[in-house]
Amino acid sequence: MNYIDSAVAEFRKILLEQQERCHSMDGENTDFSALKALIIGLIDGDGIGPTIMAEAKRVLRELLKDEISAGTVVLKEIEGLTLENRLSLGESVPKDVLKEIRSCHVLLKGPTTTPKGGSMESANVTLRRELDLYANVRPVTVPEEGIDWIFFRENTEGEYVLGSRGVELPAELTMDFRVTTVEGTRRIARAAFDYAKNNGKTNVAIVTKANILKKTDGMFSQICHEVAEEYPEITAEDWYIDIMAANLVNKDLRSKFEVFLLPNLYGDILTDEAAQIQGGVGTAGSANIGAKCAMFEAIHGSAPRLIEEGLGDYANPSSILRAVELLLRHVARSSAADRLQKAMDTAAEEKKVLCTGDKNGATCHEFGEYVLSLL
Ligand code: NAD
Repeated sequence: MNYIDSAVAEFRKILLEQQERCHSMDGENTDFSALKALIIGLIDGDGIGPTIMAEAKRVLRELLKDEISAGTVVLKEIEGLTLENRLSLGESVPKDVLKEIRSCHVLLKGPTTTPKGGSMESANVTLRRELDLYANVRPVTVPEEGIDWIFFRENTEGEYVLGSRGVELPAELTMDFRVTTVEGTRRIARAAFDYAKNNGKTNVAIVTKANILKKTDGMFSQICHEVAEEYPEITAEDWYIDIMAANLVNKDLRSKFEVFLLPNLYGDILTDEAAQIQGGVGTAGSANIGAKCAMFEAIHGSAPRLIEEGLGDYANPSSILRAVELLLRHVARSSAADRLQKAMDTAAEEKKVLCTGDKNGATCHEFGEYVLSLL
C-alpha cells in the first residue's frame, strides 16, 4: 500500500473511533457529599513535581486531618507515573497506574514531563482522555485591577485528541487532525454557562478562529450560542483568539471579561498568558473536571531547567496549592477551601515569604511552612 492509501485507511479508522467517542459521552456527576469515604489520589510527577507536591500534601493533610482520622477521607499515594517508568514500559500512563488512578474519586497531580519527539503521548492528554476530564477550569485574579477571570477550556478534543496520530508523506508533507464534536462542545458550554449563572456573572466570551476554521470552530461557536439560549440573563459574545490575546494585555479593557469559553489549544495558550498577568505560571491552579472523576494540578510543567540548574528546591508551590483549593471546593469541602484561600491571599498580600525560583527567594518548603502557619 502506498502512503496515500495507508493515510486514507488511517483516516477512516480515526473517523470511526471519534464517532464512537461521541456516542459514549455521558454519565452522571459524582455526588461527593454522599460518598462514605472520599479517595484522593496523590501523584508526585517529574522534575519539581515531588518538591511542590510535598508541600501540597502537608497542607492537604492539615486541612483534612479530622476527616482523615475518621476515615471519611483517604489519601492514596500513586507511584509509577514517572518519566523513567513510562519510558521503560513505553506507555504514557502504565496500565497498572491507570487502574490505581481509576480507583480514586479525585486526583492531585504534580507536573509530568512529556518526552520530546517520538510517539509517546503526554501523560496529561492520556489521563484527560481516559478519565474523560472534559473541562479544564482555570481561575485568574488580580484584585487590584479588578480582574476576576475564569477560563473553561475544552480539554479532550481539538488538536490534542489526535496529536500523535497525524499522517505524513515522507519528505513532502505532514498533516495533523483537529476534532470538534457536538456533545463535547455542548458539555463544556454548559459547564461555563452554569458557572456564570451560579456565580452572578453576566458575560461569557466565546473565543475561536471561526472566520478561518469554519468547520470545527464554526460549529464550536454555533453550539455555544445554542446553549446560551438556555441562559437569557447571560450575554454570549464571540471573539477571535488573536484579538482576545491582545485584549488580555489591554489594561483599559481586560477587567470587563468574566468567563471565557474556548476550544482546547486556544485555552492552553490564553490561560498561560492570563496566569502571567496574575504573577506567573507558578501562581495558578487548574482543574480537569469530568462527570465521574476530576484531576487538579498546577498549570506549569515540570520545570526541567530549574532542576538542571540545581534550583528545584526553590520552586514556587503556589500553583499546586491553588489547585488544592480548587480540589477542596470540587469535593464540597468549602470551609477547608476557604481557609486555604484566605491563607494564600494573605501570603500573596503580605509577601513575607516569597518564592522567586532562585536562591534570592524562599525555598518551596519555607513557603509551605508559611502557608501552614497562616491556616
Ligand atoms: P514549565 O512550565 O515547566 O516551565 C516554564 C518556565 O516556568 C521555566 O522557566 C520554569 O523554570 C518556570 N517555572 C515553572 N514552574 C515553576 C514554579 N513552580 N516555580 C518557579 N518557576 C517555575 O514549561 P516547559 O519547560 O515548557 O515544560 C517542561 C515539561 O513539563 C515539558 O515536558 C512539558 O511537556 C511538561 N508540562 C507538563 C504539564 C503538566 O503535567 N500539567 C504542563 C505543562 C508542561
